[in-house]
Amino acid sequence: MKYIGAHVSASGGVQNAPVNANAIGATAFALFTKNQRQWFSNPLSQSEIDAFKANCKQFAFTPAQILPHDSYLINLGSPDAEGLKKSRDSFLDEMRRCEQLGLSLLNFHPGSHLKTNPDDCLDRIAESINIALAQTHGVCAVIENTAGQGTNMGFSFSHLRHIIDRVDDKSRVGVCIDTCHAFAAGYNIADEYEYERTWQEFDDIVGLKYLRAMHLNDATKPAGSRVDRHASIGQGCIGLATFERLLRDSRTDNIPLILETPDETLWSEEISMLRQFAER
Ligand SMILES: [Zn+2]
Ligand SMILES: [Zn+2]
Repeated sequence: MKYIGAHVSASGGVQNAPVNANAIGATAFALFTKNQRQWFSNPLSQSEIDAFKANCKQFAFTPAQILPHDSYLINLGSPDAEGLKKSRDSFLDEMRRCEQLGLSLLNFHPGSHLKTNPDDCLDRIAESINIALAQTHGVCAVIENTAGQGTNMGFSFSHLRHIIDRVDDKSRVGVCIDTCHAFAAGYNIADEYEYERTWQEFDDIVGLKYLRAMHLNDATKPAGSRVDRHASIGQGCIGLATFERLLRDSRTDNIPLILETPDETLWSEEISMLRQFAER
């Protein structure tokens, strides 16, 4: 099965996300379980939790089709003691919210070294994951590859490996590959040969069994730009043929495939186009 959707709004409460996803014909969705620009938010109320679960059931979304995303403020590799503590506390809160909602995945950006030693940053990220996993149950920490903007880590598959190697519970760590980020980081998946080579490299270095989700975004900037600018599907440098290839690829079966493309009014069209690719 292909689970295709978008990062939908949860404004007014998390229970609205499955409703919004269903309205655009999605069979997967991403959401923020709290305000993504704040460190901490009010706890989820029991009525919100119950309504979220009821709506997921009504529209047939199982946890395997739902990919919560954490706050943009969190830097699990921060070299600053105070920033690191705040990030770890906030990440633990995000994990607990997922637990309460009965969800099994939490997608996050690994972190930034802020001009300090990159390997130490990766070690701190792994330690941060261990701390959160030790205090929660059932939620998998899903590390997103990045475009490598600024001092962001996670743009190379070897970074993802470095982190996974140091996570104690390997059954609760995984990876989300964002097509725009991979392309910007220099994996030129627009080329048919490089597409296959990239997957080979991913399998060799990280391992396909760790692939738990994907973000499907076209890219405004060329391969290797290290600039993170999403484009609508088929309107960027990656192009339609690559997305068609991805949707026919069994490696993308049974994981959430989430659009984070800039024009929300196109999401339902993009989803039905991607579904047609998969069914062809
Ligand atoms: Zn993404
Ligand atoms: Zn991005």
